[in-house]
Amino acid sequence: YAAKSAREGVHVYVPDPHGGSGDRLRTMEELRTALDGDELLVHLQPQVGFADGRVVGVEALVRWQHPVRGLLSPADLLPAAEQAGLLRPLADTVLELALTAAELWWGTDPVPVSVNLSAANVNDVDLPGKVAAALDRHGLPADALTLELVEDTLMADPERGRQILGELRRLGVRTSIDDYGTGYSSLAYLRHLPADELKLDRSLTADVVGDRRAAAIVRHTVALAHDLGLRLVVEGVEDAASCAALARLGCDVAQGYAIARPMPVPDFLRWLASPEHPLLDPERLVRR
Ligand code: C2E
Ligand code: MG
Ligand code: MG
Ligand code: MG
Repeated sequence: YAAKSAREGVHVYVPDPHGGSGDRLRTMEELRTALDGDELLVHLQPQVGFADGRVVGVEALVRWQHPVRGLLSPADLLPAAEQAGLLRPLADTVLELALTAAELWWGTDPVPVSVNLSAANVNDVDLPGKVAAALDRHGLPADALTLELVEDTLMADPERGRQILGELRRLGVRTSIDDYGTGYSSLAYLRHLPADELKLDRSLTADVVGDRRAAAIVRHTVALAHDLGLRLVVEGVEDAASCAALARLGCDVAQGYAIARPMPVPDFLRWLASPEHPLLDPERLVRR
């Protein structure tokens, strides 16, 4: 085995002959190092209005440029971060990366950046203070930031979910309920959640072309969101036909491969300077 000291003390690696847990330990240890260095980055994915194709937001999605394994996605790093108790420092880092990027365009294009939070952040009493301090450091107003929370995270402790959303909103930060429609959220709780937008999960919109039941669910969720004063964002819009269908169903904002893939910051800056996507060019939307 090898032993190595780190900020939080000494960690001992025990090679696992069966694979698995040894790899996991190594990943957790490497993630600690990554958080102290510059191996973490964000890719940015635009969000555009269905009505006019204008860019109304951009989501920051964490990536890990691992020295050996290459570019890793959240699915590869979030479980390790959770097991290592690193979800809070991870959120600090992603917030920092997202706001550093937003500073590059905010002066010319006031497009807010969305950052994903996890349960560990919801339970962090320092979160609102940290968010306010970060915005301050970057000279950005609160409405330059949207914070996304998946509904299950909010529902684990609905009272706490409501409290944290309220505190963030009082700062002036926008709040978004992510992956809406997949978890345990009940309409009773939705009634009390201070949020600005619902992000309808991809699983609910993927079959919207040609599946009347899928379309019915979207149509009714749109009506619910609007009656509650929320904006409805659809994620994972993959093709022009779905784009057209979701626009007809009254959705407000589109995000997905049909608009643009998540991309490195410099690529996003170029894209933002001259956006190109099917909603700006109705000819490219397949008519049905
Ligand atoms: P999410 O917040 O629902 O983000 C959307 C995911 O769908 C992203 O995956 C994005 O790359 C992917 N996506 C976008 N458009 C399309 C499409 O048209 N089709 C399909 N099939 N997928 C699309 P990604 O980047 O792998 O992130 C996965 C999840 O990891 C995110 O889901 C979010 O819950 C979480 N995540 C990402 N970044 C962070 C972070 O910084 N902190 C935390 N706590 N969670 C994060
Ligand atoms: Mg999200
Ligand atoms: Mg989502
Ligand atoms: Mg999702």
